[in-house]
Amino acid sequence: MATPEQHLQPALRAVTLASRLCRSVQARLDQVRAITKDDKSPVTVADFASQAVICHTLRQALGPVPIVGEESSAFLREDAHAAHRRAAIDAAREVWPGVAEDQFLDAIDAGAADPPADGGDFWTLDPIDGTKGFLRGQQYAVSLSLISAGRPVLGVLGCPNLALDHTAPIDGLTPQGTLFWAIAGQGAFESVLSDTSARRRLGPPGPLPSPLRLCSSVEEAHTKGDTVAEVLQHAAHTFIPLRLDGQGKYAVVARGQGDAYLRLPSKKGYIERIWDHAAGVIIAQEAGRIVTDALGHPLDFSRGRGLDVNRGIVAAHPALHPALIASIRDLGLADPPSAAPNA
Ligand code: AMP
Ligand code: MG
Repeated sequence: MATPEQHLQPALRAVTLASRLCRSVQARLDQVRAITKDDKSPVTVADFASQAVICHTLRQALGPVPIVGEESSAFLREDAHAAHRRAAIDAAREVWPGVAEDQFLDAIDAGAADPPADGGDFWTLDPIDGTKGFLRGQQYAVSLSLISAGRPVLGVLGCPNLALDHTAPIDGLTPQGTLFWAIAGQGAFESVLSDTSARRRLGPPGPLPSPLRLCSSVEEAHTKGDTVAEVLQHAAHTFIPLRLDGQGKYAVVARGQGDAYLRLPSKKGYIERIWDHAAGVIIAQEAGRIVTDALGHPLDFSRGRGLDVNRGIVAAHPALHPALIASIRDLGLADPPSAAPNA
């Protein structure tokens, strides 16, 4: 099997192409149809197009590798959804000229695998992480990671609306997004989306500022803002909230623009999905930050599509991480794993 280094170039290319098509769809968002999936989370034509382009690009370079992605083509294949199907193919054609319908749908399903039963290596993909942010015209990420022996060994994160300039406001749109990547043991990097040769290494962490800058979800249903405040208050820290959708939160912490990312269970029994974390986790870790679940346990990516034995996430500067875990424990905010699947 190829090494993570041999996987890096196709992964960078795949995420760059997908990020470009997502930017283009977001720029004409009024025409985008939000489709409500069974679990009530929105999915757009760009989610499907991004998954197809990434799976096609990876497989062209690497052969039939297993890809555990968030989407499948089932919805688009239904006759009633022909308009969505055409719109998704049009979105993909911006970076995959002339792709035929069958080829497009099959490419989406190339990313609909389950993790290999034999415990072998696999890719995990969130074609648009933070679809709600995408639909609000705000932050989202294109996330791709290679998992080996239960942990991410390579991660690539496209953040089309996050400026390379760390001092630029997170809420403002930017003419050039940022690409982040990491390989286990080799550090984490960022560059403008269009040119990975002008890369910058992330880390190591500097001194902790006061107030701290704390990343959390925009969606209250994913992490409640007042719970995050309670944790910081209990740890005797003041903080400025940095709220953004998707795994850009890990990248913001990795590059020292934020000091911590807290994701506290707000729905009993919710199991985090591997594609919502894998790429961000390795980028933060390779930049010298600590990432665990909300009880301080390592994240276990060997359990299938979910982080079944973990609850919540704490990604933080190493000087801050222990105090956050202690505070969460004291306050009893990390609900222990239960057998209940996501309902
Ligand atoms: P974020 O933008 O960081 O809040 O994360 C977006 C991701 O949250 C989506 O990709 C969903 O998979 C995931 N999600 C959906 N419902 C929940 C929930 N109740 N708790 C935590 N995460 C959730
Ligand atoms: Mg997601």
